[in-house]
Amino acid sequence: MTEWFTVDKIDSDTFAISEYKHWEETHCYLLCGNKGAVLIDTGLGIGNIQNVVGNLTTLSILVVTTHTHWDHIGGHEYFDNFAVFEDEKEWLAGQFPIPLEMVKKNLLSRPCAFPEDFDINQYRVFQGLPAMILHDGDLINLGNRQLKVIHTPGHSPGHCCFYEPDKGYLYSGDLIYKGCLDAFYPTTNPQSFLSSLEKVKLLAINKVLPGHHQLNISVDIVSEIATGFRKLANEGKLKQGNGIYDFGDFQIHI
Ligand SMILES: [Zn+2]
Repeated sequence: MTEWFTVDKIDSDTFAISEYKHWEETHCYLLCGNKGAVLIDTGLGIGNIQNVVGNLTTLSILVVTTHTHWDHIGGHEYFDNFAVFEDEKEWLAGQFPIPLEMVKKNLLSRPCAFPEDFDINQYRVFQGLPAMILHDGDLINLGNRQLKVIHTPGHSPGHCCFYEPDKGYLYSGDLIYKGCLDAFYPTTNPQSFLSSLEKVKLLAINKVLPGHHQLNISVDIVSEIATGFRKLANEGKLKQGNGIYDFGDFQIHI
């Protein structure tokens, strides 16, 4: 069986683990320090991401979560030590707001090369008890690397970006990527999305590591997306139900 995940080396201690065989093209990131490793998100839960991580490091792993949508927490079941932002811990305890049927429909909405043993009828949105709760400004210490939690609500109420000040890496989750940015679900908030973009825009960023689609994207996309949201706000259009606005490299779905 061909491998479900693709591994790309970002630098000597940082890896992207991607699901290019699914239309969502979700990225997870493994950061290895000298005292431990962090895995940012665990993908759709279609392949076993623990096996991939185990081939890359023997360090103990803390999983941190950009947000608790199914496409970012699917492999959490393989890890005991995982952390979520305070505002979404209830979503992992039976209060996930999106019906399973809608999740399954979304998973299958475009043709994909699923593994032979994948059965959509068995698919569930992960539920579990986090070992750790994240708060805005928390610092996660990997010894020689530090990762800062930046609360960036909008796509979901507890969405976080993770920022590595020494390298200037921004792990942007679903706040920033090249493609269609979603702020149309009932639990999204386009105004908060804009505020979050303006918050991260102030950081010194050398590299954006997005939650979906193209991996090598320009840092300029941060201000371009912020400008797009700002433009819609200024024109009184930043309201849910308005549809999809196309800005070329990205779209805003509200
Ligand atoms: Zn996503």
